[in-house]
Amino acid sequence: MDFILLGPPGAGKGTQAKLMVDKWNIPQISTGDILRAAVREGTTLGVEAKGFMDRGALVPDRVVIGIIAERLTEEDAVNGFILDGFPRTIPQAEALQQILDGLNRAIDHVISIEVEDEELVTRLTGRRMCKECGESFHVVFNPSSSEGTCDRCSGELYQRDDDKEETIRQRLAVYSEQTQPLIAHYEEQGRLRRIPGTGSIENIFSRVLEAAGN
Ligand code: AMP
Repeated sequence: MDFILLGPPGAGKGTQAKLMVDKWNIPQISTGDILRAAVREGTTLGVEAKGFMDRGALVPDRVVIGIIAERLTEEDAVNGFILDGFPRTIPQAEALQQILDGLNRAIDHVISIEVEDEELVTRLTGRRMCKECGESFHVVFNPSSSEGTCDRCSGELYQRDDDKEETIRQRLAVYSEQTQPLIAHYEEQGRLRRIPGTGSIENIFSRVLEAAGN
């Protein structure tokens, strides 16, 4: 099962991807997570990516395409993968197609999770992430039991620099200009399933399962 999760920042791609990992035992591949780890570790990749990320812009295509080309050949992805946050531009989608052709495989399902902009701003400004395990919380909708501490691993919670309102608006604009065209791209290929991204996490997951033919 090879999946792409499409959807604006804050739509819940990461949350749904984690449930999909448990269901199908295939890895979540998030370019955002890979880039944030590189920034934390101060690698060459991280240094190059940080400026783009901090201002809510996209990291150049060649950088993220290189990351994905390498990651998709790793052992744990042989039976499938869930792409979360990639592709984000038409050139990325075309490069992905070439990489997959070379591996003799193809995307089975592209699931687009749809949420209104104002709801996304509310979700993202309240989002808090764990520094250690990446678990995500929300100050109102899904608070941790002890403020500032992760329920799963007791790590410290923080607000992503790009989850400040001004940067969020910028990320949403980038999504509608550069990533939204992928919806028509995959629709033309007959692979796209759109699902509403509102309601409980479980309800949204049942829509994901339905979209995947389960
Ligand atoms: P995310 O966690 O998916 O919201 O990604 C956070 C940031 O990482 C984005 O705002 C971009 O700066 C960068 N990023 C993640 N994935 C990509 C991608 N596929 N193409 C370009 N930039 C990306």
